[in-house]
Amino acid sequence: MRRHLLMSAALILLAAGPACSAKTGSRPVDPATALQMRLLTLDTHLDTPASLAFPGWSITDAHTVQDDYTQVDLPRMKRGGLDGGFWAIYTPQGPLDPESTRKARDFAVMRGVAIREMVAAHPDSFALASRAADAAAIKASGKRVVYLSIENAWPLGDDPTLLRSFYAMGVRISGFAHFRTNQFADSSTDAARWDGLSPLGVQLLAEMNRLGVVPDLSHSSDRALDDALRLSKAPIILTHSGCKAVLDHPRNIDDAHLKALAAQGGVIQINSVYVKAMKQSAEREAALKAFEAKYPEDKRVTAAERKDMLAARHAIDAQYPEARAGFEDVMANLLHAIKVAGVEHVGIGLDWDGGGGVTGLEDIVDLPKLTAALLAAGYSEADVAKIWSGNVLRVLAAAEAEAAKEQTAGS
Ligand SMILES: [Zn+2]
Repeated sequence: MRRHLLMSAALILLAAGPACSAKTGSRPVDPATALQMRLLTLDTHLDTPASLAFPGWSITDAHTVQDDYTQVDLPRMKRGGLDGGFWAIYTPQGPLDPESTRKARDFAVMRGVAIREMVAAHPDSFALASRAADAAAIKASGKRVVYLSIENAWPLGDDPTLLRSFYAMGVRISGFAHFRTNQFADSSTDAARWDGLSPLGVQLLAEMNRLGVVPDLSHSSDRALDDALRLSKAPIILTHSGCKAVLDHPRNIDDAHLKALAAQGGVIQINSVYVKAMKQSAEREAALKAFEAKYPEDKRVTAAERKDMLAARHAIDAQYPEARAGFEDVMANLLHAIKVAGVEHVGIGLDWDGGGGVTGLEDIVDLPKLTAALLAAGYSEADVAKIWSGNVLRVLAAAEAEAAKEQTAGS
């Protein structure tokens, strides 16, 4: 922990570069950090909206991962050079009965409202983006970019046209399933029920194409990805996934799928969760299971409960330390994906505030290290710009073009 604090302090100095230029005699900012600040940088899977529900927690305050386990806030976006991204409406999968599904719909609507309220409360710092071209304009205005996305489409129930309401709210990427198979698709981490996308999932995919929402197949099964690659009229995204060749895990995809995704014009955004095989102690697993039973992730907690919750979590981490992957494991996935799919088809979606973060890449303050490692690996500034936002925005623009075409044809 101490080492991390020292390292973060060094990065703060680096990130403060332009303010303490060579003219003043202080150390000039390193080229990678300067590039990080200059480029348009978007992460395609921010679970940060979950933090907005914490009592007393504000996106404009500075927090630390050591203190409250959060990884994204406005001060850290500035320090780490993250312009924004896709802020997820994530709903943990529950039972597929009508009442649970209605509750999930309400939960998802309210999470979308919370994201919009964050923007409305801080209009000088954040701006909603709805078109691919908006992101650069928002950066130029000195604000942070907020696109909305859906992780787990379960809240849509049996009506794919409900996606229109979420589109109106700002959603431009939507997944199908999460950890468990649902009405739209088989999950990569659950038993198959549909052999890919369900008939309703195929309807949802068509609705995405019609609206201009990018289909996200992270978490869905390989067969669901195959269906989406075959049926979608616009490119596919994997907003936070990894490479099976580096870590053989159901959440990751093999080289054949990487190539098929690239051939279809799509993009894989590299996560920092499934990057290396890690074995946790049985004691840690048991303690975390009891913790999760006491504090389910969709439970709203009071300030006192959250304080107890954080103390309990710190106690578990102190008693049974986590076996952690490292920065080099994230880079191994990133470089492999680029090698196989090509630099036009890879981006960044590290799953911040959703389980992401490794030793050496603890929160978004560490992001310039990714840019430095890409430059060190021989990639040009133009390549790094594509990885940080160019590729995902190309995919979003293609979704817009397909929607315009279908809506013209249909009118
Ligand atoms: Zn996820």
